[in-house]
Amino acid sequence: MSRIVVKCDKCGEIGACDSSSDLIHRVNNCNGNFIETSLPYDDFWILCDISGDNAFLQAMVDLKEKDPIEYQLKMSQFKTQVQQQKNNKAQSSNTVKCPKCGSTNITAGQRGYSLLTGFIGSGSTVNRCSKCGHKWKP
Ligand SMILES: [Zn+2]
Ligand SMILES: [Zn+2]
Repeated sequence: MSRIVVKCDKCGEIGACDSSSDLIHRVNNCNGNFIETSLPYDDFWILCDISGDNAFLQAMVDLKEKDPIEYQLKMSQFKTQVQQQKNNKAQSSNTVKCPKCGSTNITAGQRGYSLLTGFIGSGSTVNRCSKCGHKWKP
């Protein structure tokens, strides 16, 4: 079983599927035949991360046939772009890490809070590592 990138000969939609499936485009009662394209399966998903637009995918299929060198150049740019996007996502969703032990099991608490007297001190928050007990200002 191999995975291939196909194009519907009726509506022109480009998608990925198993070569063992019946290769009929069943969405929207199209019933067109899927024709295998020259686009590698892995490249297809990178392109989908850039843009899922069918016209864009078609342009890349055309480019690969007409100018494989330019295609490779574009693909390597896209790969870098997708990788950067993923890195950015990982960073922005990153939870606070303990600067001492690297644990992400952190509790943010209030500094200077006293049960007896209520709020004292600056009231700024302080992070506390549940693993090693290290405290630091965020
Ligand atoms: Zn179709
Ligand atoms: Zn720690």
